[in-house]
Amino acid sequence: MKETSFDPIDLFLRSVREMPERPAVHVDGRSWTYAELDHLSQRIAAWCDAVCGDEQRVAVHGARTVLAYAGILGVLRSGRAYVPLHPDHPPLRWRSMLTRASVRTAIAPAQVHAQLREAGIDLLVDLDGLPSAAARSNVRGSREAYVMFTSGSTGEPKGVPVGREQVAAYLQHVCTTYAFSPEDRFTQFFALSFDLSVHDLFVCWGAGACLCVPPADGALQAMSFANEQAITVWFSVPSQVALLQRMRLLRPGALPKVRQAFFCGEPLPLDLARAFCEAAPHAQVVNLYGPTETTIAITEQVVGPELTERVVPLGRPFPGHWARVRTGEALATSGEGELVLSGPQVNAGYLGQSSASFFEAGGQRWYATGDRVRMDPEGVLHFLGRVDEQVKLAGHRVEPGEIDAVLKPMLGDGTAVTVPVLRAGATELATFIDVEMDPIPLFAALRERLPAYMLPSRIIVVDRFPHGTHGKLDRKALIERATHG
Ligand code: AMP
Repeated sequence: MKETSFDPIDLFLRSVREMPERPAVHVDGRSWTYAELDHLSQRIAAWCDAVCGDEQRVAVHGARTVLAYAGILGVLRSGRAYVPLHPDHPPLRWRSMLTRASVRTAIAPAQVHAQLREAGIDLLVDLDGLPSAAARSNVRGSREAYVMFTSGSTGEPKGVPVGREQVAAYLQHVCTTYAFSPEDRFTQFFALSFDLSVHDLFVCWGAGACLCVPPADGALQAMSFANEQAITVWFSVPSQVALLQRMRLLRPGALPKVRQAFFCGEPLPLDLARAFCEAAPHAQVVNLYGPTETTIAITEQVVGPELTERVVPLGRPFPGHWARVRTGEALATSGEGELVLSGPQVNAGYLGQSSASFFEAGGQRWYATGDRVRMDPEGVLHFLGRVDEQVKLAGHRVEPGEIDAVLKPMLGDGTAVTVPVLRAGATELATFIDVEMDPIPLFAALRERLPAYMLPSRIIVVDRFPHGTHGKLDRKALIERATHG
């Protein structure tokens, strides 16, 4: 018997064959059937074949239109990998990503073609420019599915190429562990440049279900959107729901149709998970965890009545994967330390740079996550924080060092140090500099290169940085000062 394939395109094509007339995506006020999305993505694949030659990566502009969804499918169908561009990120950031990923072609709405040309793209297409001929064979070229960029402490975003096999391993686990059906309606809250969106698209299309895409600025309208669209499968970062709770929109019974909910990207407070369970009384709620480097998510914990800790545990790794806690050189199966992971979802490394985060031990390849965890004797992982400075802002990964590196050339002999500050229940960034300077040009430089969520809310001048007894920069003192100063 032929084994079922969980390759993302195989999953989509199976639904095209079995339910061509069912809605595959609802976006921009209209629904597109599987047959329509199939046809559009074939035309995009044909365009890629006609213009890309040997090039293995194509950028997809992530505006919330059918072009982006068909674009991702089309690029993958042409045997290439897609590089998603966040529509709100500055063109200089696009340029840095596109250069490092050697991308010269893009699928994007006509309104942004000029901006993309400035960012180094030569060949662009939107809906109107696509060839009408759709007939083509499904070529399998690249083993890479996409390249996602995350914050990098050296001042440039860091590229993570993710393999098609790694995505298939993820889909195999999630599609067979949780029950989905063609009647389901999935949320698509995540930006296409955030790897959790890959779950939205391909878990949904693997089930023959409908992907429901809210407008770009729809975070606060999430509840009315979920009810209008009769959402049954919810996936978001916890802070999106925390915002709804602060706005008093997360009322008991407010999400009657949701039957499966996933959270990922940042710690899930237990009281928030419980409040969500009351709002969606028919839902099974699952906490997923995983860095981009290990493909979407790699551990899971169902939220049940037995949980008591303030933060929902990360749970256990997906079957076929290994989790260990690292203290010094030793990898242990219980205790506290840095979480390291191994198995089929772990990717090969970063684009164009080697990193000590990927290492070999005991004949296996591991990825060191930088997350501090406790593994209990049952093998359940509990999140304790980070071993480094990385922070999460509303689910976005931020290396404060990236902000400091952008400012450095403007500071002469001076230095910048960015720290996270908790204000009114939300984390924001404050940047300290040790030279007297007008902050306006500094903010302008940051805005040119960084996404809005990475901008510090304040730049504070200090005479000199505080240091601890061993001469090490005292970040805690800076955080204290930014919080109370
Ligand atoms: P990203 O690569 O942007 O998906 O970020 C991965 C990081 O987000 C992890 O290394 C953790 O620090 C954090 N993270 C993701 N999911 C969770 C979770 N369920 N609980 C706590 N932290 C999480």
